[in-house]
Amino acid sequence: MYQIIDGKRISKEIKDELKEQVAELKKQGREIVLAVIQVGNDPASSVYVGNKKKACEYIGIGSLSYELPEETTQEELLSLIEKLNQDENVNGILVQLPLPKHIDEDAVICAIDPQKDVDGFHPQSVGALCIGQPGFLSCTPAGIIELLKRSGISVEGKECVVIGRSNIVGKPMAILLLRENGTVTVTHSRTQNLKEICKRADILVVAIGKPKFVDDTYIKEGAVVIDVGIHRGENGKLCGDVDYEKVAPHTSAITPVPGGVGPMTIAMLMHNCVEASKVGTN
Ligand code: NAP
Repeated sequence: MYQIIDGKRISKEIKDELKEQVAELKKQGREIVLAVIQVGNDPASSVYVGNKKKACEYIGIGSLSYELPEETTQEELLSLIEKLNQDENVNGILVQLPLPKHIDEDAVICAIDPQKDVDGFHPQSVGALCIGQPGFLSCTPAGIIELLKRSGISVEGKECVVIGRSNIVGKPMAILLLRENGTVTVTHSRTQNLKEICKRADILVVAIGKPKFVDDTYIKEGAVVIDVGIHRGENGKLCGDVDYEKVAPHTSAITPVPGGVGPMTIAMLMHNCVEASKVGTN
């Protein structure tokens, strides 16, 4: 029988731990504030932003909300970020992606003070991750490492295969698995023999962005499967990048969608906000 890795329960556990830490910090007179910027009103982004604000409220983190119109210029957005960079009452800055096409996302990410980069997307945060220095970790891959640890699954010495090499999931995931002493292979759209490579994996992380792409023919018997994907099917139900029904019986542990990786992303964002409040105080 396989283990269903319960991201909902584990994320609640993390949020409750953070809530206690935040209460302690409050007793010392320290308030944590996250600034959340959304440009335009993409419905999916609005849901994500709403969930982030709810998590802040639950933990006791203050949130400042900036809902800017679609036609906001890059200069206007950059000047708001600069203002928040300078504001010592703001600990973390989050710009919800994707941004409208006329705004250069890289320029915006680079404008955020690395000490307030709670998404972990700034080149300085990514560089620190690569060379093993302290810095903010990208929330989704950091959440996956936490899921594995808190489910008693060790990475050390394991064959780990990551499908996807995006800057926000695949690449940082590979580096974090390496940091945990896994033997890591990263695959992408030009990879040949994808199935054969996946079949070697003790731990398979799927971040391909295609609904139910990975079926049982990709799985080594007893592997751990982490499904990062999130899609709304025609029937309105959510599904992942993995065909759960076909794959689960062949695994030793698997994340469901919903209730697997998704809730961990926000929990790790909250973790980063708490860490951000400690910057310069240690
Ligand atoms: P992305 O930027 O679209 O990246 C997809 C990756 O998959 C790319 O590296 C691409 O390769 C690779 N790929 C595409 N087709 C492939 C194929 N046939 N064989 C092998 N590799 C292939 O997506 P992402 O931002 O990493 O997100 C991946 C999924 O995770 C999406 O479903 C997204 O919605 C979800 N997501 C969930 C969370 C969460 O909190 N749960 C957070 C972030 C993302 P190339 O580089 O060669 O194009």
